[in-house]
Amino acid sequence: MIKILASLVQMQGLDKVIGEKEVLKKRLPLQLEELERNVAEAKKRVDDAKKALDNNGKSRDTLELEVKSNNEKIEKYESQLPSIKTNKEYKALNSEIDHLKEKNQKIDDKILDLMDEEQALKELYQKAKEGFEGAEGELQDKEADLRKQIVNVDKVIQDTRDERNQIAKTLPLNIVKRYASLINNKNRRAVVFVNNNKGCGGCGFSIRPQLLIDIARKETIVSCESCGRMIVDTSLIEKNVDEVE
Ligand SMILES: [Zn+2]
Repeated sequence: MIKILASLVQMQGLDKVIGEKEVLKKRLPLQLEELERNVAEAKKRVDDAKKALDNNGKSRDTLELEVKSNNEKIEKYESQLPSIKTNKEYKALNSEIDHLKEKNQKIDDKILDLMDEEQALKELYQKAKEGFEGAEGELQDKEADLRKQIVNVDKVIQDTRDERNQIAKTLPLNIVKRYASLINNKNRRAVVFVNNNKGCGGCGFSIRPQLLIDIARKETIVSCESCGRMIVDTSLIEKNVDEVE
């Protein structure tokens, strides 16, 4: 029986590893996805900043054309002034010239605003580009390693399972079934040790003195009267198993 108990402890140690690797297996692809998402988002920020910068340039071009066209009109009207016959016509043309000059002044203000904005947009664009390069660099640095780990973790899980199953084959079927059911239903912990308060290492429930004696004798499998886990003597603790609490 002591050999069976030792095997169960060994299997529990391996199932603990499997549990941890299963968590890692879920986490690794998420890490990779996050890095890829960072790159995509950084790329979008670059595109958006570039677009804003282009729009700023286009707006300025349009306004500058408008100023140019207004200036041409002003020049034309001014050249017409000396040949005007009536006072009324003269006033009207003059007022049109003033109106165009006023318009140009307003446009000039807008152009100045756009130039200010252009400076800010250029800085934003530069920052976005740096952010993109950083995100891309991080992905490049970590991607290969993450992919290797993803492949590796599957192999470790499989190898550990095989090792556990090899041990299981040496045990009576009814014990293996009980073990498996506990692993599946009790948070991957089927075999626990007596804790420091002479309680179940799984749920903490107090162990009756008679059962403590049975556990210490290692001649039978003792189950916790509360959680049903198999409780074994701490002398069976393996170096790599830290199940005691
Ligand atoms: Zn318990």
